[in-house]
Amino acid sequence: MGYIDLHVHSNASDGTMTPEEVVDCAAKAGLSAIALTDHDTTAGVSKALAAEKKRRDAGLFAPAVIPGTELSCSWFHDGKETEIHILGLFIEPEQKDFKAFLEDMISARESRNSEILRRLAADGILLSMEDLTEGISDTVITRAHFASALIKRGYVSTVEQAFKRYLASGGKYCPLKKTVEPKDAVSLILKAGGFPVFAHPMRYHLSWREIEALTAELSGAGLQGMEVYYSSHTAEQSRRLRSLCRLFHLLPTGGSDFHGAKKPDIHIGTGYGGMRVSDLLLKDIIEFRANSSR
Ligand code: AMP
Ligand code: MN
Ligand code: MN
Ligand code: MN
Repeated sequence: MGYIDLHVHSNASDGTMTPEEVVDCAAKAGLSAIALTDHDTTAGVSKALAAEKKRRDAGLFAPAVIPGTELSCSWFHDGKETEIHILGLFIEPEQKDFKAFLEDMISARESRNSEILRRLAADGILLSMEDLTEGISDTVITRAHFASALIKRGYVSTVEQAFKRYLASGGKYCPLKKTVEPKDAVSLILKAGGFPVFAHPMRYHLSWREIEALTAELSGAGLQGMEVYYSSHTAEQSRRLRSLCRLFHLLPTGGSDFHGAKKPDIHIGTGYGGMRVSDLLLKDIIEFRANSSR
């Protein structure tokens, strides 16, 4: 049996490795497949696929690269807004509606980022675009990049301070983000030929009742998978999520949420050390996709 990792970030979003380095790293870990799932972008996918091909052409072992993305969504429920992440595996990056959606989100982000820079500068806190990108082109700038830049420029000493003082969404310096509802993200992913997955359900501080309500809502929109295996999940949590999968006819997936040196304790394929995701899960997903396209 082989092992896989269906949730991996590169520096196309907030990971620290290039897509090529991610593929090499996964090869070194002996993984038979990885999904590159950068936040709100598929910009790294073609580079990862090229790196896979390059290794194979050189006669080296290579993981199969699955094109993916991780969409940030806002779920409005019981009078509160919760940020929910939906993974799209096997995305076709060039699909028209999906591409337009990502471009829309990115341009909304760019306006928001400029506005944050402008509001900070008005209070004498000067950051440049270069402070944010750190020389990496094609990267999606998030508030996490602002936090690093604020630390680097000596305005705060910790990420927590940065978020508290300057980066509260909807606060003095930071406009609210343009959002998409998780069920709409599921529809978009389906339209782009992808396999939509409810990412790391335990990370949102939701009750089990809320997780079930959200799963029901997403299933109604065509959700196909749930991230049952995840770096921080306990065996008991994975077991419960697996029964939820059975209830809603979802396929279980698993991934580490690897970010390279940004989350140095999370290793590709094994998370904090104890996680293993069987390639049999991927086999089931591929079989499911083959049957449903017939
Ligand atoms: P954005 O999508 O621009 O709103 O930024 C989201 C990024 O900020 C993600 O990488 C989050 O992990 C990070 N983030 C949000 N809130 C906090 C917080 N309180 N402390 C540290 N990181 C945070
Ligand atoms: Mn991230
Ligand atoms: Mn996530
Ligand atoms: Mn992630």
